Amino acid sequence: MQTIGHLINGERVAEDTRTQEVINPSTNQLEARVCLASKATVETAIAAAEAAYPAWRAVPPIKRARIMFRLKDLLEQNANKICHLLTCEHGKVLNDAMGELQRGIENVEYVCSLPELLKGEHCRDVGPAIDSWSEFQPLGVCAGITPFNFPAMVPLWMWPMAVACGNTFVLKPSERDPSAALFIAQLGLEAGIPAGVLNVVNGDKEAVDTLLTDPRVQAVSFVGSTPVAKYIYATGCAAGKRVQAFGGAKNHALIMPDADLDNAASALMGAAYGSCGERCMAISVAVVVGEQAADALIDKLKTQIATLKVGDGRDTANDMGPLISSAHLEKVTGYVTRGVEEGAELVVDGRGLVVDGFEQGNYLGASLFDRVKPGMAIHADEIFGPVLCVMRVDTMEQAMEIINNHEYGNGTCIFTRDGEAARYFADNIKVGMVGINVPLPVPVAYHSFGGWKQSLFGDLHAYGPDSVRFYTKRKTITQRWPASDVREGAQFAFPSNR
Ligand code: NAD
Repeated sequence: MQTIGHLINGERVAEDTRTQEVINPSTNQLEARVCLASKATVETAIAAAEAAYPAWRAVPPIKRARIMFRLKDLLEQNANKICHLLTCEHGKVLNDAMGELQRGIENVEYVCSLPELLKGEHCRDVGPAIDSWSEFQPLGVCAGITPFNFPAMVPLWMWPMAVACGNTFVLKPSERDPSAALFIAQLGLEAGIPAGVLNVVNGDKEAVDTLLTDPRVQAVSFVGSTPVAKYIYATGCAAGKRVQAFGGAKNHALIMPDADLDNAASALMGAAYGSCGERCMAISVAVVVGEQAADALIDKLKTQIATLKVGDGRDTANDMGPLISSAHLEKVTGYVTRGVEEGAELVVDGRGLVVDGFEQGNYLGASLFDRVKPGMAIHADEIFGPVLCVMRVDTMEQAMEIINNHEYGNGTCIFTRDGEAARYFADNIKVGMVGINVPLPVPVAYHSFGGWKQSLFGDLHAYGPDSVRFYTKRKTITQRWPASDVREGAQFAFPSNR
């Protein structure tokens, strides 16, 4: 049985006494055991990162960027292996794993332009013979804590930019599917990142709490559920750190009566059921304006759900794999039962699905609710499974009110042929990422990713331009070289423009 350890100061170590099972969700069989780092192990990783910082900070940005070019090559060369790890531990279908990895690689490509991104701001002659400029210096040791649902991509949102900016890093991946993040970090070292600059500790709350409170850690990036994100933000900020904590979501699609309903239904299928609904940008609610459009959409969704192929992620014919764990399957199934009890109409029931040859897997078929109302738990809570709720309203304003009143504000989209309505929606909806006839408006790597309300605690978004600012601190320098024959008296007031 394989034991998954840590990567500390360039070495693979597996010394902790506590371990946890890593399960293949398609079979519920044991894949490996992962070490759960003790406080002392995490402190060793932080010490390695701190020791590596002065030399790494002094490496010119162009040389740090060249390592990122090599990392991109290595990620592409090892794509099949990484995607296999993703599918075996997370369960997502191989094509989806490829898409996840591609999005991660795009972040590395953006980081390759680091010298350009780190260019400061310069002003000549802000006063007589006085010049002023701002530069962006690294912070020191940074930490990243990542969720199970994007085991390769979310770590790649964080450490390539942090490290390229001159910081050193300790990553704590999800203990449920840790292998891809560890393997990719190893590729980082192979690309030329020196020992100690990038470290990986596997673990649970004990590891996280150590990262959150150790005074040597300057900044923490977190992605996960909202209750944990709130805790991370409060604890990290109280310990004086810079923190960005990305939380959960409940993403709505607004379907206008004039929308191309065939395209909208196809888009909703991928957005609601792709990756078994375990995406923070998954569409889990469709708010439809008008009874006629709602009836037509439900019919089209029913037809498409009937053709959806659910099964083992390694079979490329499948559209949707299993849920991450049997406990999560039970939780999502419980929400389907609760929706029926609350009075919503269960149009397609995915419960009880058994996949031939994978009878023990955590499978749930696509489920579809109609006539869901605000106040029902299936609308209020993030279910994080293949459950799509349809809500019926009479006007666009009522639909926007439902979306704006929801506690989460990660992503949303509108399907319409009306440009004026689309523009009004984008201007006034209280959500961080908006799609217009685009169901999953995940920003590309050269924009930044982030939600509003309970979906993000902190100010700066992930990756893209915001991440350059998150992983650096501004220093502004004002310089004057007075001529040696000029003698000036003391001044006791602000210098005025003479
Ligand atoms: P999670 O909150 O359970 O775990 C995330 C990380 O926090 C893991 O590394 C875990 O070990 C650690 N953790 C868990 N409980 C902790 C505790 N009590 N104290 C300290 N650390 C703890 O999230 P998950 O189930 O792995 O991921 C799914 C969630 O992540 C969903 O809510 C999803 O919406 C969210 N998510 C959000 C985004 C985003 O960008 N907003 C992206 C991906 C996932």
